[in-house]
Amino acid sequence: MTGGRPAVFLDRDGTMSEERGFIDRLELLEIFPWTTDAVRLLNRAGFAVVVITNQSAIGRGIIDEPFLHTVHGEIDRHLALAGARVDRYYFCPHHPDAKLAEHRVVCRCRKPAPGMIEQACRELGLDPARSFMVGDRLIDVACGHAAGVRSLLVRSGHSAHRGEAEPGLSEPDAILNNLMEAVGWILRSSSLSPAR
Ligand SMILES: [Mg+2]
Ligand SMILES: [Zn+2]
Repeated sequence: MTGGRPAVFLDRDGTMSEERGFIDRLELLEIFPWTTDAVRLLNRAGFAVVVITNQSAIGRGIIDEPFLHTVHGEIDRHLALAGARVDRYYFCPHHPDAKLAEHRVVCRCRKPAPGMIEQACRELGLDPARSFMVGDRLIDVACGHAAGVRSLLVRSGHSAHRGEAEPGLSEPDAILNNLMEAVGWILRSSSLSPAR
């Protein structure tokens, strides 16, 4: 919403934590060492921090929703140790080929579709024009652009290993090595000054 709060939307795997394919055991979750500081800088600068994650592992029957909440609780616990905070998590459990019938749909929320960001903007009163998306894949960039937010690609996940383009998807506004560099870019590009 115009006049709403600015947000930084974060992809999870490859952006906040190591890209490991499906995280179906807590031991696979490895949060990058800079993630806590990066999130805390966004908190202090007045951005809502909102995780936007495709979790077709649920539709595929690899994990269930309670386990996903366990993973997000672990991220929250890790961040809280250093005073950082995610405001809300949005996830898409769907996939067109999902094993579980209730999740076997072409939905509006699976990235690159913008549904999760649009829902977050409605529910949390966020202003897309002053917001940013950070992710490690061009589907993250496309999702952000479709929702009207500037979108940055980081090299800490998929795009570190695979240089090939995903055809038809939009170009990032900038390409950075990792989330901390992306946060630096956002703070420089944003008219917000950090809270005192
Ligand atoms: Mg990712
Ligand atoms: Zn979905």
